Amino acid sequence: MYSNILVAYDGSAHADKAIGVAIELAAKFDADLHLVQVVDHAHASSGTAEFARSENVDDPDSLEIELAKKNLLQRFEPKVREAGVGNLHARVARGDPAEQLLNYIGGSGVDMVVMGRRGVGRMEGLLVGSVSAKVSALADCAVLTIK
Ligand code: ATP
Ligand code: MG
Repeated sequence: MYSNILVAYDGSAHADKAIGVAIELAAKFDADLHLVQVVDHAHASSGTAEFARSENVDDPDSLEIELAKKNLLQRFEPKVREAGVGNLHARVARGDPAEQLLNYIGGSGVDMVVMGRRGVGRMEGLLVGSVSAKVSALADCAVLTIK
């Protein structure tokens, strides 16, 4: 029924919960799982930049992306494999989170998105975060928001 499930990860406990649900759904539907994180800081952290210089890496921003992707896989790949999900795609993009998620969704045959209703934001008054509101409004597929 669903064959490409995307889960959006921002490091929050809400997103952790969404990942748990997405893994179960992907296993049930025998779907590919796309684990996507958008880093919105424009440039590599000073720590990464320094490491990049010492290793003669010319593009510290790409290194930052690679490191974030490695962390993501280290953290979640074992759970994904254990659940029996066959195909895991991990992607770290840079830019505006909603825009990058929508680009990925549009370009990769994603037919279901799983995300937290809230994320790392601290605006307690809001019931729904701006990224989940924008993605549910604009994505051309099913969007499941996890509370
Ligand atoms: P806001 O960011 O508007 O202050 P918030 O952080 O509480 O509020 P959202 O950012 O909308 O809420 O987060 C809701 C969900 O959207 C998260 O649980 C996560 O699934 C997804 N999400 C948010 N930011 C990102 C991101 N940078 N990369 C990937 N997924 C994200
Ligand atoms: Mg947020």
